[in-house]
Amino acid sequence: MAVSWDRLSGPKIARLQGTALAEQVSGRLARYQPYWRETVRGTGLRAAEIKGLGDLAKIPPAGERDLCPDGDPAGAARLVLQPDESGFALHADDRQFRRALRQRLTSAAAYRRTVDEATRPVTFHQAGLAIRFPVASTRTDLDLVARAGARMWQVLGLSAADVLVSALPSGGNDLAAFALPYAAIGAGAPALHAGPRGAAEALDTVPATVVAVRSAAALEALLGAYGDRLPSAVTTVLVTGDDDGVADLVGDARVLRLWGPGEGRWLWAECAPGSGFHSYPDLEILESLDPATGQPADAGELTVTQLGIRGSALVRWRTAAVGSIVTGACPHCGRTVPRVASDTVPAALVTAAEVGGETVALDLRSLAGALAGRADLDGWTVTRQAQSSGGSPRVLVRVALTDGARVRDTALGVYADIESVAGDGPTQVVVDPSVGGRADLLLH
Ligand SMILES: [Zn+2]
Repeated sequence: MAVSWDRLSGPKIARLQGTALAEQVSGRLARYQPYWRETVRGTGLRAAEIKGLGDLAKIPPAGERDLCPDGDPAGAARLVLQPDESGFALHADDRQFRRALRQRLTSAAAYRRTVDEATRPVTFHQAGLAIRFPVASTRTDLDLVARAGARMWQVLGLSAADVLVSALPSGGNDLAAFALPYAAIGAGAPALHAGPRGAAEALDTVPATVVAVRSAAALEALLGAYGDRLPSAVTTVLVTGDDDGVADLVGDARVLRLWGPGEGRWLWAECAPGSGFHSYPDLEILESLDPATGQPADAGELTVTQLGIRGSALVRWRTAAVGSIVTGACPHCGRTVPRVASDTVPAALVTAAEVGGETVALDLRSLAGALAGRADLDGWTVTRQAQSSGGSPRVLVRVALTDGARVRDTALGVYADIESVAGDGPTQVVVDPSVGGRADLLLH
């Protein structure tokens, strides 16, 4: 009997991933992805060298900075596989290819449709931290998105009998708004994606058992519009952002988090609070790498390689999120899939921060946008710093300077940039020469 996707042994997962990786690289990326052809080949790496999981480390990790070095989001198009019709024959899987071959003999229109489903991007969502760029999905990719979503439903302990009301805002940079509808479709569960404004009315309309919100503030707004408490039939509250304070608002309902890197296609779920986000090992390979050395690290930059995607295909994609990867059976559900630690910090989020003595919602993506074009910055990180007094967290921006950049000029420039998006500049600038010309900016 075939073992379920979520109960495979470690060695079996490694074998599956190795085979799928070799196929993705030699059958798709090396032939049809401009980024691979223009950049990875330039390193001297040949696709034939990627034979198994052990060869993954030969591929240079890349993130949006590598893809769009001049800040132009058009660079992201280089991730999209661009096969022509003859290319389809080479990169389709066996079953799909045999089906297409039959259709070619009997129906030109059906054949064309099959080729298009696998090769033509039909849906895009926006992603990116410093640069907003479109991520392309083909029709075949969307099938994978729905499949991953059906699995997410299982991890959450939900079934087709559950009814979802989503208060997530649609569009923007939000992967959840893109992926959650496909998850519900994949799971066969009724869903009403009502958005923040329509969610209260939706709770009056459908017998919801699951509610999705972005944060405690969003749930508070929903409760304000609906009534003091959620309907008693609601068993589960899904949170796509920071879940601080959500549990206090939901009575007996479970609070489970969903997350995935924005450039990905699907979400990962917790099976129990704090269990870690459960991944799908036959669809992706996860690594945690030291951003400076590219070597494996306990709590490094989360790096994702997607298997089988034909639109914007990510290989060793640097997500800029910091987190560790847990393997072995989950103590809560027993699944053997790799899990991304629940305390993984996305590099882009909307956070409460103290700015100029007032608590404001600071969109770190706009902060990222302000810093992205600076030629004097080699890199930067943003972390939230809890205050022992229990007040709103401070936001720490750490910047690394490029060679020749002047510390004072850069620090003042960064101050002004942050001021322009946050409404007030940082009150403290710390320059520490011992870390190679890094400037620490503390937002109050
Ligand atoms: Zn679990």
